[in-house]
Amino acid sequence: MSNDPIYVTKPFLPPIDEFKSYIDGIWDRHALTNGGPLHKELEDKLCDYLDVPYISLFNNCTIGLMSAFPVLGIKSGEVITSPFTFVATAHAIKWCGLTPVFVDIDPETLNIDPTKIEAAITPDTKAVMAVHCYGRPCDVDAIQALADKHGLKVIYDAAHIFGAEDNGGSLARHGDLAVLSFHATKVFNTFEGGAIICHDKDTKDTIDRFKNFGIVDDNRIDMIGLNGKMSEIHAAMGLAQLPHIDDAILERKRVYDLYHKLLVNVDGLRLPNFDGLARANYAYFPIIVGDDYPLSRDKLADKLRNHGIFTRKYFYPLITDLKDYPSGDFPVAKGMANNILCLPMYPDLGNDQIEAISNLLR
Ligand SMILES: *Cc1c(COP(=O)(O)O)cnc(C)c1O
Repeated sequence: MSNDPIYVTKPFLPPIDEFKSYIDGIWDRHALTNGGPLHKELEDKLCDYLDVPYISLFNNCTIGLMSAFPVLGIKSGEVITSPFTFVATAHAIKWCGLTPVFVDIDPETLNIDPTKIEAAITPDTKAVMAVHCYGRPCDVDAIQALADKHGLKVIYDAAHIFGAEDNGGSLARHGDLAVLSFHATKVFNTFEGGAIICHDKDTKDTIDRFKNFGIVDDNRIDMIGLNGKMSEIHAAMGLAQLPHIDDAILERKRVYDLYHKLLVNVDGLRLPNFDGLARANYAYFPIIVGDDYPLSRDKLADKLRNHGIFTRKYFYPLITDLKDYPSGDFPVAKGMANNILCLPMYPDLGNDQIEAISNLLR
């Protein structure tokens, strides 16, 4: 193995010539943003690929998460969510002037534990914002049943799920809205980007107005929208990448399979599994470092770093340990935040690199 550092991820890039041919078109047309032709083409192709009825592209997932609440008419109240996620989930709730109410996670799926949701519902509860953590599905049926019973909206932070499918299709189809991330570190990227999936034309029209300042037409602005638009150059990246994404996911599977084979018998390490999925996207390779492993999670991360291998304590610190959020007793999430470590995982991680990392872990 060379001595080059290995980072937790390395963005997947399409062949540069394929990207450039889209850029040539942008220079010809002088259409740079505001729903240009590449934007339209990417929306159509993603609806096809994900097999969802409507998608609205965004400049990133965080703005998409923030837009979800006003689009659904939620202006005040409480939103039930998971503490074990990237801070953007909770920040989006706060930016909308809403109150996040945290519920502990399931120790198997690391997603919000539906058996604990009902106890957190109050007369002020408006929605559940659940996260399909690491691309593994939430218990969508249990969450929908609770939402129906209590009249709540369901929004999925679907930042991790691109390409992941359960027996009914893409995980993106669940919930009133699902919000994807196309950030550089995600399975499918547009440099920066995101999208909201919805299920009817009226909602799509509302989302598209909202992300364009609330502008209806030359004479009317009917809500306090924001600027959530994706530019043509970002859409070009998505279009250039999409034809290669299935191959990229296959490469991720190769990485997953080799790590799994080399690490499955190491005492004290719990490996990720993608049970319950018809197709996994292998977005991350999170290991859980147990008490019976010779090093703590932090010592292990330090040791790997000394060998030029940069892992991520993803998700640490826990959101409920940040000063801007209410603390609480979430033993499962807390245990995960203290013991989880994401190993390098990306399509062109070489077998020799995976072997070297695994040898260190062993
Ligand atoms: C990456 C991520 C986001 C934020 O996505 P951006 O596109 O960077 O705004 C939100 N939620 C989760 C769970 C994420 O991993």
